[in-house]
Amino acid sequence: MVTVRDRLSAPGLHISVEFYPPRDDAEEGVLWHAIRRLEPLQPAFVSVTYGAGGSSRDRTIRVTERIARETTLLPVAHLTAVGHSVTELRHVIGSYAAVGVRNILAVRGDPPGDDPLADWVAHPEGLDYADELVTLIRSLGDFSVGVAAFPGMHPRSADMETDTRYFVGKVRAGADYAITQMLYTATDYTDLRARALAAGADVPILPGIMPVTSYGRLRRMQDLSGQAAPLELAERLRAVDGDTKAGYRIGIDHAVAMCAELIEAGAPGLHFNTFNRSRATVDVLSELGLVDGAASAAGVAVATG
Ligand SMILES: Cc1cc2nc3c(=O)[nH]c(=O)nc-3n(C[C@H](O)[C@H](O)[C@H](O)COP(=O)(O)OP(=O)(O)OC[C@H]3O[C@@H](n4cnc5c(N)ncnc54)[C@H](O)[C@@H]3O)c2cc1C
Repeated sequence: MVTVRDRLSAPGLHISVEFYPPRDDAEEGVLWHAIRRLEPLQPAFVSVTYGAGGSSRDRTIRVTERIARETTLLPVAHLTAVGHSVTELRHVIGSYAAVGVRNILAVRGDPPGDDPLADWVAHPEGLDYADELVTLIRSLGDFSVGVAAFPGMHPRSADMETDTRYFVGKVRAGADYAITQMLYTATDYTDLRARALAAGADVPILPGIMPVTSYGRLRRMQDLSGQAAPLELAERLRAVDGDTKAGYRIGIDHAVAMCAELIEAGAPGLHFNTFNRSRATVDVLSELGLVDGAASAAGVAVATG
């Protein structure tokens, strides 16, 4: 059984991509178009996020299983502690194992609703923090487990030192690697990596990349993450607000420049948040020279190492 741990221990630059579970048939079609378009890139893994409600959670399990069954891709299922008892979590983890999914990204999740900083209320028979979820998953079999990391720090953390301590706790609980929240600058990544390493967390940390291609999306991402975008990027996107093409160009240029710096800084890979679309990911990789020049729907291949 191939794991993300194995993949990341191989030399080279590891490209990975993230999808969210589709809400209806139309979205499912869009997702599968993106999956098929990205499959020839042979990413190290593809991950599927875990939603807040029952039906979206079922769809995460279904999509992850289908990726395992019908594609050449290695799927990673996200799992959150939100609203689940430990018994339910065991059941979900068991469902993944039953369909051959042995790679899980363990995150605590945010409270249901639109405010990610609303009061966190644990399920009475559930878990409080991601480190407990890592421990639970590892206790249930040979899973490779990833965790989240935050540039700056998680907005709920009291200070950087506390944030780092709890991150190290997740690694000590058994995490093999981490993926960062979307980054705006390579320095945010190198600072995070340096403080994790200094505190003893020596696992691969994959930088989260999400080309921000419109002012509206930038504002939405700031609201969701609690992380301010660089003023210069915000100004440039605001100046072309409503011009889809110009916004796209700015977003891609920014992502390409940042990815080049990340590679230069020795990042082990690039993790793309795709929003279930392939174009921005393929464009960024192409402009970095990481996709075969003759890239086409049928024949793209990532040049690594
Ligand atoms: C790569 C990535 C993927 C994500 N995927 C999803 C997804 O699929 N679905 C979804 O709903 N959300 C997802 N999220 C969002 C994530 O669930 C939220 O950001 C959440 O608020 C934090 O999750 P965490 O796993 O980092 O939590 P934790 O590591 O538990 O940390 C949460 C807060 O508690 C503190 N803390 C941690 N451990 C302890 C402890 N033992 N005692 C006291 N305080 C502690 C931390 O410092 C932090 O402030 C993702 C985020 C990232 C970066």
